[in-house]
Amino acid sequence: MPLVSMRQLLDEAAKGGYGVGAFNVNDMEQIQAIMSAAKETRSPVIVQASRGARQFAQDLYLFKLIQAAAELNPEIPIAMHQDHGNSFETCKSAIELGYTSVMMDGSLKEDGKTPASFAENVAVTKKVVEFAHDRGVTVEGEIGVLGGVEDGHGAGGSGLDHITDPDQAVEFAELTGVDALAIAIGTSHGAYKFTKKPDGSVLKMDVLIAIHKRLPNTHLVMHGSSSVPKDLQDVINQYGGKLKETWGVPVEEIQLGIRNGVRKINVDTDNRLAITGAIRKVFAETPEKFDPRDYLKPAREAMQKVVAQRMTQFGQAGHAGDYKAVSIAEIAKGYKDGSLSTQPLVAAK
Ligand SMILES: [Zn+2]
Repeated sequence: MPLVSMRQLLDEAAKGGYGVGAFNVNDMEQIQAIMSAAKETRSPVIVQASRGARQFAQDLYLFKLIQAAAELNPEIPIAMHQDHGNSFETCKSAIELGYTSVMMDGSLKEDGKTPASFAENVAVTKKVVEFAHDRGVTVEGEIGVLGGVEDGHGAGGSGLDHITDPDQAVEFAELTGVDALAIAIGTSHGAYKFTKKPDGSVLKMDVLIAIHKRLPNTHLVMHGSSSVPKDLQDVINQYGGKLKETWGVPVEEIQLGIRNGVRKINVDTDNRLAITGAIRKVFAETPEKFDPRDYLKPAREAMQKVVAQRMTQFGQAGHAGDYKAVSIAEIAKGYKDGSLSTQPLVAAK
């Protein structure tokens, strides 16, 4: 299957009442792990690259890897997404490369650190929406600010500093016409999200539900949603790692989100942990080994296992064959003639 529009993928997920994991990719082993998991579980999938990933791998290497994934897996719908675009130019360059979806994270200024004003966020996101929709490309926006820093991107601090205001979420969706909306409900990027198992005082699922009530048809996105399971932390520490005790977003909270409009769930940290644990294990148990394949293969398998597990937990498993890809040109037409709505359904308070 050619790369598909993320809008199509999320619209289908809404119809089916499931969520779709968006997994970060930086290299060949990661895309292979994601695709093996998608094949194994028959899942549609979103693969995403941060600005850091595009720098690390170089645009062309990374994009050709995704194209190879699409060619090798014609039965799997794959959307290729720019994670946390910091500017119009970043999103434009991703679209010109052939990404089928971009995130314009206008919640932060272009430095990727300083929270932006509502007006600044609306202006830059709207500009990206116009450029992207003309070309059939999906746009995710963000309202409220996530905690933590990842790949040099983020405001830092606690996830509670800039929780999304439901009224502002409505206004933002109306003013920008985004296809998907990332919201801040207390989660953070990176491994250190919560200092204990999160409850309602730090993980604001009530805010998510309130936003879904106001915007019942809007595809919501959960960032910073790795579960950071203890068994993955333990493998790292057992083989010489020094992770401090930490908690992520429990899978059952994500599933509650999925029942309340969450269609895209970003997972990166769990895969990083799985890879690192597997490599540490090989180094510790067989220090005489020096062929990179000896540790990259178990690393790839460890990541595949985590991704397949999330695909099953999010409900996307088994849905790869539900629909045919609509071409990006057709999607562009849909935005133009209004058959793909860009105005949210807004419910009264
Ligand atoms: Zn994020």
